[in-house]
Amino acid sequence: MKDTYRHKGLRKQLINELRRKGINDEQVLAAMDALPRHFFLDKAFEEWAYEDKPFPIGHDQTISQPFTVAYQTLLLQIKKRDKVLEVGTGSGYQAGLLALLGARVYTVERQEGLFQKAKLLLKELKLGNIRCYLRDGYKGLPEFAPFDKIIVTAGASEVPEPLLEQLAIGGILVIPVGDPVQHMHRITRLSESNYQDESLGAFRFVPFLKGLEKEE
Ligand code: SAH
Repeated sequence: MKDTYRHKGLRKQLINELRRKGINDEQVLAAMDALPRHFFLDKAFEEWAYEDKPFPIGHDQTISQPFTVAYQTLLLQIKKRDKVLEVGTGSGYQAGLLALLGARVYTVERQEGLFQKAKLLLKELKLGNIRCYLRDGYKGLPEFAPFDKIIVTAGASEVPEPLLEQLAIGGILVIPVGDPVQHMHRITRLSESNYQDESLGAFRFVPFLKGLEKEE
């Protein structure tokens, strides 16, 4: 895999576009500038990797639009060594970005083909501390809880109770909720039983699905 001057130039343009669209977290922008998005797309879409658009990654799924990735990531306020759960590994791009920001990443995917592919790619790229699991993300990863941050990258119709339970006190859960359009929610756990829920901008995600999907 090559990251050419052309790719780097296109990436700079994308970063400027995100800045113009209101992304003002320089740490997040720097990490996106450092991570070649074209590594996470099929060769056929490489030409468009630096447009602010979602793209198909197979199995009816998409890599999220860069603006959405930037927005969800800035809401998480990642600090070095944060223990982060991502639900919906997909291409692995978001997981890679979180690792570049210094997080210890646990990412779960329900679709076996995507899980295998992302796991291999993330290992090859050596972006930091990332562990991949083939799991139903609705249930989270109880054996590794609590998490400082949790990010869901598929559109949920409700906030899964297990994810609320697996959030550390002071932790943040970022999740798009609603059908067919989702509103981004940032939920902060204030104490054992108190949560603050902020409803933010509207987005359109691929659906959050239940159970595992095995390869034939
Ligand atoms: N974060 C991804 C975007 C993936 S799109 C990226 O950076 O590329 C959403 C992903 O969530 C899809 O791959 C889909 O298979 C997965 N998904 C949907 N429901 C899920 C569930 N219950 N558990 C785990 N993954 C799920």
